[in-house]
Amino acid sequence: MRPTFDVIVLGLGGMGSATAYHLARRGQRVLGLERFTPAHARGSSHGRSRVIRLAYFEDPAYVPLLLRAYELWLELGRSAGEPLLTATGGLMLGSSDSALVAGSLRSARSHGLAHELYTNAELRRRYPQLLPAAETVALLDPRAGFIDPEASVRVHLQQAAAAGAELHFSEPALSFTAAASGDRVRVRTERGEYEAGALVLTPGPWAPQVLADLALPLTVERHVLYWFEPSTGVAAFSADRFPVYIWERADGVHFYGFPHQPGPPGGVKVAFFHVGSPCTPEGIDREVKESEVAAMRRCVREHIPGLYGPLLHATTCMYTRTPDGHFVIAPHPRHGNVIIGSPCSGHGFKFVPVIGEILADLVTRGATAHPIALFGLSRFAAAR
Ligand SMILES: Cc1cc2nc3c(=O)[nH]c(=O)nc-3n(C[C@H](O)[C@H](O)[C@H](O)COP(=O)(O)OP(=O)(O)OC[C@H]3O[C@@H](n4cnc5c(N)ncnc54)[C@H](O)[C@@H]3O)c2cc1C
Repeated sequence: MRPTFDVIVLGLGGMGSATAYHLARRGQRVLGLERFTPAHARGSSHGRSRVIRLAYFEDPAYVPLLLRAYELWLELGRSAGEPLLTATGGLMLGSSDSALVAGSLRSARSHGLAHELYTNAELRRRYPQLLPAAETVALLDPRAGFIDPEASVRVHLQQAAAAGAELHFSEPALSFTAAASGDRVRVRTERGEYEAGALVLTPGPWAPQVLADLALPLTVERHVLYWFEPSTGVAAFSADRFPVYIWERADGVHFYGFPHQPGPPGGVKVAFFHVGSPCTPEGIDREVKESEVAAMRRCVREHIPGLYGPLLHATTCMYTRTPDGHFVIAPHPRHGNVIIGSPCSGHGFKFVPVIGEILADLVTRGATAHPIALFGLSRFAAAR
């Protein structure tokens, strides 16, 4: 007989691990299927740090979700006995009319969020590590910081298993079948076929393949993360002196970074934001080119000169982008009990626990009280 479950979660990365946890703790019989090993480095959820921030320049509509995400990160860290969120404050740097600074300010004002505005002179005085051009100012988001993505996946998986979820690793789902809404769903792997009342699809950068029949306008991109050894030593970049930041340069390019984190790979991490090249999970070039390193070194030399030291490590990671940069969280248009969760476009990680809660709501209640109107599928049909 085919093993049966209440819910199957396909893909146990950032989003799927949290979804399996939220479903299992509501008493659902959960099967989680993962192509690789737990907290692997071949998808979108690796590299030791992800920025979390509250004054959201992309759209103030994300703020209520962020407020809930903060609560859940703290709750999860407490129950795991390890902090997953490190608060450092966060600087949004650019000219006062840049999308980043103006958008963060709009979010902060419309939701009454604590924030400070620094003039160029104040910025230079408070953060001598930075070399801002004359027109550069900053908004400080005091609640910003970073999340450890590998620890998040590991802890969510541990807690999902502790709550009774059955988790299978190195077992890719090959296909799924679902009839009309309400019918059972079947998922086939090389090891067998499983049946459930609902299916959650959280395949990250494999979404264009898993959802090929919907022809969604999703683009998978290769991005590079860099860790440099500061030429001035790491003390000036410790988390109590150096916050997370996003910097909008005069040419419109964004880059962002973190304080020094103890442990491998060492050094201080920095990356370009939304500067990637199209790829597929199978075809991605994992080798980081000299020319890419040189471009990042030029950027740090110009903006954070103390970071202009030897490259300690570089790795690639994949974004799954939508044309408008907003997430996809919606029931499958033809199968009401198949729920799609593709929150990326390079900014999804900070939302992981609230996405887990939302996807669990959609499975168990058919609706969620969280505001997810931005993330529906109908906007793509309208865009075509
Ligand atoms: C370089 C980079 C920097 C980022 N920086 C930030 C940041 O600072 N702040 C922020 O909030 N967000 C950031 N993001 C975005 C964030 O990391 C992503 O939104 C998030 O990781 C997406 O998680 P996911 O679960 O959708 O994908 P993944 O974590 O990749 O999970 C998908 C999982 O599905 C599995 N899978 C796929 N197909 C199958 C199958 N057929 N069968 C079984 N398993 C399958 C995969 O193996 C994988 O484990 C960044 C992303 C990148 C790449």
